[in-house]
Amino acid sequence: MRYLVLSDVHANLEALEAVLDAAREIPYERLLVLGDLVGYGADPNAVVDRIRGLQPHAVIRGNHDKVGAGLEPSDAFNTVARAAIRWTYEALSDDNRDWLAELPTGPLVIDDLLEICHGTPFDEDMYVFDDADVLRSMQAADRRLVLFGHTHVQVGYRLANQSLTLATADVRRPLHIAIGQGHYLINPGSVGQPRDGDPRAGFGVYDAGSQVVEIYRTPYPIEQTQARIRDAGLPEALAQRLAIGR
Ligand code: ZN
Repeated sequence: MRYLVLSDVHANLEALEAVLDAAREIPYERLLVLGDLVGYGADPNAVVDRIRGLQPHAVIRGNHDKVGAGLEPSDAFNTVARAAIRWTYEALSDDNRDWLAELPTGPLVIDDLLEICHGTPFDEDMYVFDDADVLRSMQAADRRLVLFGHTHVQVGYRLANQSLTLATADVRRPLHIAIGQGHYLINPGSVGQPRDGDPRAGFGVYDAGSQVVEIYRTPYPIEQTQARIRDAGLPEALAQRLAIGR
């Protein structure tokens, strides 16, 4: 079974379509979504409709889905994120808002090897920033392989023989990570708002049969997404950051 793994689409329809085009050739059988379908971008309804139409095998919510659906106030968000999520709440159709509100909270076990979460297995809103966060996440997980999102950075860690190493040290894409002994914590990157300095859309594929995680990057028409953000009256910073991947 091969799973396409998408995270942090953030209402960026052009990036989502580019990823789905690229993934068609890879290919995959089932879809996993690690949260933050909406927030920041100008096409929350189109993105939610597209994902729903693909009948994903599993979708968990992200912090922006939670606030965008009105389940939580936006107090924890910075000024730009708050402006965007208020816009998102108003823009969402009742049906899509209800659908987002009913998304399960991670972590979610997918098979004997894999579980997925948005932030970390112990807290959906926490960011994996340092080695302590990585180790705590691996300890809290029910599975040896965890795929996560939230940081918008393509990165993977491996803990084996009490040594923590980077599974994504090779910056070439696509990257094939063969899951060996030990624990793995891998972020396939953000589809709609990368923050690792590479503006191309990030995504992953998990091959359950061969126990391999593949990490990809694909270009998309960023100027179109920027125009959508400006036309919607969303903060200009949200358009500009897409061009630099920050
Ligand atoms: Zn996000």
